[in-house]
Amino acid sequence: MTAHSSVPTGTFATLQVQTGYDSRTPENSAVPPIHQTAAYEFASLADAADVFALRKPGNLYSRSGSPTQLILEQRVAALEGGSSAVAVASGQAAVTVTLLALVGRGGHIVSAHQLYGGTVDLFQDTFADFGIEVTFVDQDDTDAWRAAIRPATRALFAESIANPIAQVLDFETVAEIAHGAGVPLVIDNTVGTPYLVRPGDHGADFVVHSATKFLAGHGTSLGGVVVDQGTFDFGAEPERWPQFTTAYPRFGDLVLWERSGIGQAFAVLVKTKYVHDLGPSLSPFNAWQILQGIETLDLRVARQSASALAIAEHLAQHPKVAAVHHPGLVDNRWHALAEQYLPRGVPSVFSFDLDGAEDAGAQDRVAEVIDSLQLFRLVANIGDARSLVAHPASMTHSHLNAEQRAAAGISLNTIRVSAGLEDPADLIADLDRALARI
Ligand code: PLP
Repeated sequence: MTAHSSVPTGTFATLQVQTGYDSRTPENSAVPPIHQTAAYEFASLADAADVFALRKPGNLYSRSGSPTQLILEQRVAALEGGSSAVAVASGQAAVTVTLLALVGRGGHIVSAHQLYGGTVDLFQDTFADFGIEVTFVDQDDTDAWRAAIRPATRALFAESIANPIAQVLDFETVAEIAHGAGVPLVIDNTVGTPYLVRPGDHGADFVVHSATKFLAGHGTSLGGVVVDQGTFDFGAEPERWPQFTTAYPRFGDLVLWERSGIGQAFAVLVKTKYVHDLGPSLSPFNAWQILQGIETLDLRVARQSASALAIAEHLAQHPKVAAVHHPGLVDNRWHALAEQYLPRGVPSVFSFDLDGAEDAGAQDRVAEVIDSLQLFRLVANIGDARSLVAHPASMTHSHLNAEQRAAAGISLNTIRVSAGLEDPADLIADLDRALARI
C-alpha cells in the first residue's frame, strides 16, 4: 500500500475530503493530525535563519501557521478554485487582514451596504480610526458603484449573498466595474459557500469566509479564510501597489511580486506582516475542527438549502407573515440572479417579516414568536447543524442606525433564519406553533 499525497484531482466532493493532506509522514496518520505546539524546533541555526529570511519554507512558530492550518488553506483554496489561501482566527480577522493588505493607510474602499453588521462596524468605525475610508453603496445600483470610485480606491467589497436579507450580488457586473478601475473585487462568500457559488468563477479576485459558519458547520469553532484567486495582477500598475512591487523593508531588498508573483504574493504579505504583527492566528485545534466540517460541506449545504426553501415557501403562505426574503421564491427581486449564479440551490440563511406596523408593538410581537420557538435556537450565528433564529435589529445589526437598517432591507419585524439539519417538517411545525401566539 502507498500512502496518499496531498493533491488529488477531482470534483467538489473529492476535494473537500482529500485536498491538502499527505499521509506520507513518519507517523502515517490517516486523518490530518492536530499540530498542537506553540513552536517548531530547527535542525540547525543555518536552517532557522533560512526560514526566518523566507529563503526556504518551514514551520517556525504557531502565530505564523501550523501544518494543520496549511492543510485547511490548501483545501479551501481548492474548493474556491483559487491559487493560495490564508486561514486566521475568525471571519472578522479574515476581512481585516485582507483589506489592510490591499488598502493601507489613506486608502479607500467601496462596499455594498448590504453587509453583516460586524463588517459595518469594522468599516465605519475601526477602519476610520486607522485612516481607511469606506463608501457604502446599494449593491444593485451599478452607477453608484462607479461613481464612488476615487483615485485612492484599492478594493470593491460585497457579500455573495448578503446576511440577513439574502440579496444575491450581480458578481459579473460589479467585477467588471472593479477591473475597469484597476482594483480587485473582494467577496465575502460566507453565506454562499463554495458549494453553491464560487465568486472567482464570476470575476472575484479575493474570497473571504467566516469559516465559523458553513465550513466548520457545527457551531463549535471560530475561524476565517481568505483565498487569492490568482487573477489580480499587482504588477500591471506597480506604483499603485508598492506593498508588492517595492522592497519589503523587513526582508531587505526582497520584492514580493518578483519573489512570489501572481496568486502567491498576497498570502505571503498577509502572513508575514498582518498575521505576524497583529496576531489573529488560527489555533491548530480550530483548523482541525474546520477541516472535519468541510469533509461533509456539500451534503450539509444541499440539505440545509432544500429545507430552507421548504420553510420559506410555507412562510410565504402564512397569514402572520408580511414578507419572506428568500431568492429561491419566484417573486423575489433577486430570483433571476439566483437562477444565474446559484444553480445548486439558494443558501439556507434568509429572513422573514412578521405582519404588523414598525411600531412599539413590533419588538413584543417578535419576542413572543422567538421566545415560543422550541427547535429554532436564539443564537447570533449561522451555518450550524442546529436551526437558529436571530432578530437582526436588536442583535447582529443593532449598531446600525434606522436609515442604514432600512437600506439593508431590515425592519423591526425581521427575523433571520438559518436552517439546520433537522427534519424540515418539524421546523415548519415549530414556526407554525410560535406564529400562532400572535
Ligand atoms: N461575514 C459574514 C457574512 C458573517 O455572517 C460573519 C459573522 O457572522 C462574519 C463575516 C464574521 O465572522 P466571525 O464571526 O467568524 O468573525
